[in-house]
Amino acid sequence: MIVYNTLSRKKEEFKPLEGNTVRMYSCGPTVYGYAHIGNLRTYVFMDELRRVLKWNGYKLRHAMNITDVGHLVSDSDSGEDKMAKTAREQKKTPWEIAAFYTEQFFKDIDALNIGRPEIICKATDHIPEMIDYVVKLQERGYGYETSDGIYFDIGKLPNYGCLSRANLEEQQAGARVEVNSEKHHPADFALWKKAPKEHIMQWESPWGMGYPGWHIECSAMGLKYLGEEFDIHTGGVDAIPIHHENEIAQCEGLFGHPAARVWMHGEFLQVDGGKMSKSLGNVYTVDELKKRGYDPLDYRFFCLSAHYRNKLNFTFEGMDGAKSGLKNLRAATLAHKGASGKLSEAERAELMGAFEEAINDDLNIPKALGVVWNAARRAEKSNDIYELLLKFDEILGIDIAREPEKKEDEFVPDAETQALIDARTAAKKAKNWAEADRIRDELAAKGIKLIDTPTGVKAVKE
Ligand code: AMP
Ligand code: ZN
Repeated sequence: MIVYNTLSRKKEEFKPLEGNTVRMYSCGPTVYGYAHIGNLRTYVFMDELRRVLKWNGYKLRHAMNITDVGHLVSDSDSGEDKMAKTAREQKKTPWEIAAFYTEQFFKDIDALNIGRPEIICKATDHIPEMIDYVVKLQERGYGYETSDGIYFDIGKLPNYGCLSRANLEEQQAGARVEVNSEKHHPADFALWKKAPKEHIMQWESPWGMGYPGWHIECSAMGLKYLGEEFDIHTGGVDAIPIHHENEIAQCEGLFGHPAARVWMHGEFLQVDGGKMSKSLGNVYTVDELKKRGYDPLDYRFFCLSAHYRNKLNFTFEGMDGAKSGLKNLRAATLAHKGASGKLSEAERAELMGAFEEAINDDLNIPKALGVVWNAARRAEKSNDIYELLLKFDEILGIDIAREPEKKEDEFVPDAETQALIDARTAAKKAKNWAEADRIRDELAAKGIKLIDTPTGVKAVKE
């Protein structure tokens, strides 16, 4: 299995550090709002990675955090805490906000067939571990105190910036980095923030009441659940220049190496060729897609059409294409179900080989889908192909053998049922309500519901 490692900028042969178990960490959601389809693309990528690792026989020890404190409006330590801001706006506590949106997040990932990491860890449940990490960094000379918090001294780390290879001098000149005269370097980042009295989420610490920085959360939880060095760390590309750079710095400070051997990043989803933004009204959620008549798996299928390291442009035309593509693929799959044709061992091996080669080449799912279509479109129908497609679906997760939904309207009553419906209509006309209700109940007992519409009565099967 080959994967692209952002840290080395190379495709590398993947091997777990220890035995057969892959220890992996994924940056989880900040639960201050509904996940949008861009966030979810990153978790579809995470899920594909899980599936391909399992396909290759590895066991997973995979942790994902839930960020419920400390992620400020700007990733580089400025602005309000996202949780506190939403809580204030919605007149709720940050804990209520976190509980609600965490539940919504899991509903979304379930709907998208995204497997749950073995370990789900909430930032607010790990404050002592974070404090401990910061204390140790300070002891080793990497942390210093200012009037508003404890900061990481990037000047102490010669290889700071190794992930993004960012030009720090440029960053220093850049106006986007907040000026804090007490910081040694503008890119020094908060490990711990001192909380003003009115700040809702705060904990006791050696530096008084306060709350953790966002980056220390992932370092502390990764250490607790996966150890000093683990195999893979994932996230979206936006995490590269600040969040993951800082996670690496923290771990370098404590242990002298980055937390993970391999860093993998999913590219962004764009909408109509640009950024998603509230002001453009193009920040879509899974629920919105459902309201527009798409199944969540139509969106998963849409995501699979692009390699995870390429940008993907979301449009509704694209979604329509994915929806009909998935429908056709399922129909082509079902056409093989129970069919008597045979697939020779050589043909099977060729299809399987091409599929595996694609998925093991840095998760090339679009290429793997080409193999899937070749198999599904084969003229001679064979149950062997059906079985093979079910196996491929262990990677795709698109319910490839799902039967098409019968529309309620398609129900055609048999003669006996029709006679009862007519009798009820007649009873109603004669204002014999008792008889009309009796017939309706009799039909209901058979699972047939009658709906009175302006154009007459309609029977639907429940
Ligand atoms: P957040 O909940 O803001 O912490 O983000 C959750 C995940 O979504 C992170 O891994 C981000 O990198 C990722 N993400 C944010 N926006 C997009 C986007 N437009 N496309 C793909 N991933 C994204
Ligand atoms: Zn993280």
